[in-house]
Amino acid sequence: MASIAAHGPGAALLAELAPWQRALRAQFPIITANPDLAYLDSAATGQKPQAVLDAVHDQLTAAHANAGRGSYPWANASTALVADVRERIKGFLDDPAPARSAVHFTSGTTEGLRLVARDWLPGLLADGDEIVVPFADHEANLEPWLEAQRLLARQGVRIRVRELPYQSSSGDYDPAALARLVGPRTRFVAATHVHHVYGGNMNVHLIRRAVGPDVPICLDAAQSVGHLPVSVAELDVDFVAFSGHKALALPGSGALWARQARGPELQPGGWRGSPNTTGIASLAAALDWLAAAGTDRIARWTVALAARLSDGLRHLDAYDVLGCQRSLAADAPVQQRCGIVTFRHRDIGARDLGFILFSHGFMVRTDGHCQAGADERIGSVRVSLHVYNTPEEIDRLLAVLTSLR
Ligand code: PMP
Repeated sequence: MASIAAHGPGAALLAELAPWQRALRAQFPIITANPDLAYLDSAATGQKPQAVLDAVHDQLTAAHANAGRGSYPWANASTALVADVRERIKGFLDDPAPARSAVHFTSGTTEGLRLVARDWLPGLLADGDEIVVPFADHEANLEPWLEAQRLLARQGVRIRVRELPYQSSSGDYDPAALARLVGPRTRFVAATHVHHVYGGNMNVHLIRRAVGPDVPICLDAAQSVGHLPVSVAELDVDFVAFSGHKALALPGSGALWARQARGPELQPGGWRGSPNTTGIASLAAALDWLAAAGTDRIARWTVALAARLSDGLRHLDAYDVLGCQRSLAADAPVQQRCGIVTFRHRDIGARDLGFILFSHGFMVRTDGHCQAGADERIGSVRVSLHVYNTPEEIDRLLAVLTSLR
């Protein structure tokens, strides 16, 4: 096979970043221990670098106790850790006013979106109000809003749920159509930063202008935090929900960042129990590791790998790549695909293709990907990338896919 730097979109960028990437890949024990396997399912969950494993070990062996209870030194250390990580998350998200925002620890994106839907949104809405939400993104970013609508309906408050419009050509949100849809009763918009099936960056930086200064925006950042720089200052959103486990931290860790500006303050209801201190420690280590690695470089690397794969697939008649086909070049300024490529073989079902690929050492996702409104029976194969993936893995994958003509 030709050398990695020799051809294809983004080849020069991949060659330039290769030494940086080799040093980072070497820090993932599960990756280096399995050189014959290629983990291509990072949109489902990410692998953990040694720094995260060390932080977990340290937290459990140095001063481990419950947080927010007790006043002996280990308990104080855990309480301080939780408070400290809150502030570090604000910094990681480029929060311009950390004194006026809050971070609530969650088990992941789903719980974060549910907190907004259950404990904040009902207090904002009155009979006849409208909310705008995505109908074709992840179920986790549709179901909680519909549940809030049902809950309010039982109390006699009727809410209209409108579809956040998509552009038919690209699959990104359509800011012009959104601006036309927004009216005096529009109270809330939920959006997704990066689509978990098509990998598109969904144009969320244009939503604020489309909806005006007063409408709260809630962002599902499951596929962006840990993969690319996320700036709440630039996006001017009010909530950001993300999953720690997709951002290289432990499963069961995650956070909801909430600005206390538009609408009432979010007060999580009910007794929330003991915090996941070890997960929170792992999240701090993961965010530090990502910041040191550089989320902008991680984004360029994974976009270039995705472009290499989708470009290769475009030359193979047997495959259809889902989602937008344009702007896949690694140096395209906007509308980029992120590190996710999803495709179907014209004759081989997604599940069978998944088995075939695993027999060659490739771990991919094969189903309907929890997409709202998707038909699970059709299914597709999703390849999703992180910094530990390599051009050689993409080239080997393309060689196997080519052989399945
Ligand atoms: N939103 C998106 C876009 C996702 O990709 C996922 C996970 N696949 C979720 C929400 C839910 O994340 P979690 O399962 O960690 O709560």
